[in-house]
Amino acid sequence: MAGKFALLSFLFVILVTGFVRVAIILYEGRESREHLERQALTDTLTGLYNRRGFDDNVDRWMTEHLNSFAAIALLDIDNFKQINDRFGHPFGDRILIYLSRNMEAFFGEQAILGRNGGDEFILLLKYVTEEQADETLRAFAGQVSPFVSEERTLPFTVSIGYSAGPGSRREMTRMADKALYTVKLNGRNGVECYNSERDEEERSQLGFALKDFDLYMPGGLLIMNVTEGKRKLLFANQAAVKLHGFDSLKELLAYASENPTSLVYEEDFAKIDPYGNNRLFLRIRDKHGRLKNVLFLSRFHHNEYYGDMSFITEIPLDYEHQEG
Ligand code: GH3
Ligand code: MG
Repeated sequence: MAGKFALLSFLFVILVTGFVRVAIILYEGRESREHLERQALTDTLTGLYNRRGFDDNVDRWMTEHLNSFAAIALLDIDNFKQINDRFGHPFGDRILIYLSRNMEAFFGEQAILGRNGGDEFILLLKYVTEEQADETLRAFAGQVSPFVSEERTLPFTVSIGYSAGPGSRREMTRMADKALYTVKLNGRNGVECYNSERDEEERSQLGFALKDFDLYMPGGLLIMNVTEGKRKLLFANQAAVKLHGFDSLKELLAYASENPTSLVYEEDFAKIDPYGNNRLFLRIRDKHGRLKNVLFLSRFHHNEYYGDMSFITEIPLDYEHQEG
């Protein structure tokens, strides 16, 4: 009898231990599955939703709040490439994280926040009319304060385009994107609501790309960094490449970095004030050493990130180059 009881007790213990073990395995499996699912919806750098996470959450909210007022906004950091170029990618990352925490603190439960990719963020503002969205987004843009680190204090600005619903996520996002484009076009650091009339206007006026300027603008356009009296050519359009006798921008940039002063005839070079606005008739030099007469116009501009810049137009005066 005692033996039978001992055997039953033993079996009972085995059974319970087995159950507990299975329960633990199932629990851990669920935990890690949930962890993986969360990870798939989260942007690793900022901890905000990634685009998929944002879309899923907004769709759920919209289904639960059919025909509620809401706005979708796209927010993009201004001149972020310059920040990266000047201070490095890891510093840029810190700005992205800083801005994300700032957005969370400012909007709280009022918004669903996501990182769209790069330096672009996407927001759903819940229960707001167009006027309220405008007020809130302007207040946010106005309070974005400089990023302060041990090394430096860096002010930066954001551009925001938005559209107010009710409407579908897809359509509202498309309209916010158009509005963001308008803000960028108008010089950045602003907030704009989508406007269908302006959209039509911009489509007919600005349906071409920056590439077209590069390829087809008559006259040479050059951008030069002139910080501390050094001259570093950063950009030249196709007309400038041709005017200086080169086959490609790459070739011109390589030549100019080796011979920074040799694109202009020595005697005339001395007449150029790198820190001023110039209007001069002078002789430029091409790759083969040939001189060409041009009207040389330049404008000085101090860029916060790059330093002292000279924006140059060279208009060829010799007949053979007038088509250039
Ligand atoms: P704009 O004012 O027109 O927006 O100019 P921009 O220089 O900010 O241009 P844009 O928004 O197109 O550039 C985004 C840059 O963000 C390009 C890319 O080098 C950088 N970027 C993308 N992802 C990351 C990232 O994860 N970390 C950092 N540091 N930079 C990123
Ligand atoms: Mg940007």
